[in-house]
Order: sequence, then structure tokens, then C-alpha cells
Amino acid sequence: LNAAATAYIGLGSNLNDPAQQLDEALTNLAALPDTSVTAVSRIYLSKPLGPQDQPDYLNAVAKISTRLGPTQLLKALQHIELRQGRKREVRWGARTIDLDILLYDGLQLDTPDLVLPHRELCNRNFVLLPLNDIAPELILPDKRTLASLLANTPSEGIVPLSKGD
Ligand code: ADP
Ligand code: MG
Repeated sequence: LNAAATAYIGLGSNLNDPAQQLDEALTNLAALPDTSVTAVSRIYLSKPLGPQDQPDYLNAVAKISTRLGPTQLLKALQHIELRQGRKREVRWGARTIDLDILLYDGLQLDTPDLVLPHRELCNRNFVLLPLNDIAPELILPDKRTLASLLANTPSEGIVPLSKGD
């Protein structure tokens, strides 16, 4: 049996009631075998990357404790995406739910299917801001601090929603 790992999962949705999609994804994450959700950020409203002719996104980050290995976890997240009706079409296009592994312990990995930490982690404010809600002291495997990444990332096009919005 694997030891428990700490991972951070990025959640994003801009279709079919995004708030409901995030909620459902959190429930589905918590229901994964040998996995518990230990913290959840605020929810943020953000402008889309890529094609602009799509709705704004809701984004959040969840901290989990899991005994699934990194590849097992990726497969499990993709299964949740499919169950929530995600269709893979346009790159960066609208989606019901996107679940990315941002970090998995201190693991650094670069394979065709899985890159850790997530490649875009360092420059996406819709990842860094929610991460900062739940892990302000975070240090990446390459020793950079979350605080330094945040200081170098514009915080335009994103606002936190108050709880219950
Ligand atoms: P994006 O998240 O960039 O909008 P997708 O969700 O469609 O795009 O993911 C594209 C591919 O990214 C997936 O097939 C997956 O194998 C790969 N991938 C690589 N690293 C990761 C990661 N850390 N978390 C999630 N997917 C990843
Ligand atoms: Mg993804």
C-alpha cells in the first residue's frame, strides 16, 4: 500500500452551472478510494484563456490526502471529468469540468501523460490565488515560493466570490 500523499487539484468550469459542477467534482473527489479532501479554496470568477467567445470560468483548488499514485489519480480525475459530461474538443475551449493535478507531494515528473508540477501552475492567477487561500506557505519542488510566483503574476481578470454566491 502506498503511503498517503498530499496533492493539490485545480478545478475549473464554465458550462452547465459551473458552481454546481465544482460542487459535484468536490463530492466526487471525496468519494475516490483512499482519498480525502482536506481543504478547499474560495471560488474565483475568471476570464477565459484562449478563445474569448466562451463564458467566464469558476475556479477553485482542493487539497487532498490520497493513497492513489500519481497515474492512478490522473485516471480517476479523468473518469470524474467524463462522468460530469466533459467533451474534449477545442483546445482551451468551454468545458463542464477540468481537473488538473497541480502538485503531488514534492514530485517532479515529465511524461507524455503527466507533468508535475502542472506546467502552467506558475503563471495562472486562477490557480495561484486559490492555492494561496489554502497553502500560503507553499514551496514548489524547485524551491520557488508561492509568494514569489504570486508577486510575478498579474491579478487582472479574476475576482473571488464570497462564500454562498
Ligand atoms: P487542459 O487542462 O490544459 O485544459 P486537458 O484537461 O484536456 O487540457 O488535458 C490535456 C492532457 O494533459 C491530459 O490528457 C493529461 O494527460 C495531460 N496532463 C499532463 N499533466 C497533467 C496534470 N498535471 N494534470 C492533469 N492533466 C495533465
Ligand atoms: Mg486538464
